[in-house]
Amino acid sequence: MELLKNKIEQEGIVLSNTVLKVDSFLNHQIDPNLMSEIGKEFAKRFANKGITKVLTIESSGIAPSVFAGLELGVPVVFARKRKSLTLINDLLTSSVHSFTKGETNEISVSNKYINENDVVLIIDDFLANGQAALGLVDIVEQANAKVAGIGIVIEKGFQDGGKQLREKGYVIESLAIISSLENGKVSFEAGNKGEGVN
Ligand code: 5GP
Repeated sequence: MELLKNKIEQEGIVLSNTVLKVDSFLNHQIDPNLMSEIGKEFAKRFANKGITKVLTIESSGIAPSVFAGLELGVPVVFARKRKSLTLINDLLTSSVHSFTKGETNEISVSNKYINENDVVLIIDDFLANGQAALGLVDIVEQANAKVAGIGIVIEKGFQDGGKQLREKGYVIESLAIISSLENGKVSFEAGNKGEGVN
């Protein structure tokens, strides 16, 4: 997705060879126009798949997911990282080790919002080692619902989450795929700008 790739080039800050900071439009401040375009792009890539729900994880997955849900005309559910006092019964849970925070969180979703009739599009902001996406897949499968696919805003292709998930047979659509963050520079995968590459 050209617009996203340009934004990453202009505003992304390379923190290390493995971590990209995009606080100015995705992870802290949010660019609503860009999120709206991202929502349209996800809806286009996952059109005609019978999606009934978008599932993401708080907090940075929420903005792109809401715009995708708006375009697809379906509700958006976000997994919580901390147990809420009002969310105690009938929880679907999974353990997710955070790549950026180095801690393991138990994520949870009420079984009221995902059930066996659902066809779920999983969305997240970044794909690194795949732990967050695998945790969300686990929750969908515990609910006996179907995973329609996984939509990622920024995939880091040099980490192996994408490979693992594709090998398991999940359809992944990443809007930008980064091949390297070495020498303080963002490089995108050759021959793609994140367009339609699985
Ligand atoms: P994974 O679970 O695939 O290892 O990592 C994905 C999660 O870690 C995402 O939900 C995202 O919040 C965070 N993450 C992973 N890599 C990066 C990165 O380079 N930059 C930022 N801002 N977040 C990242």
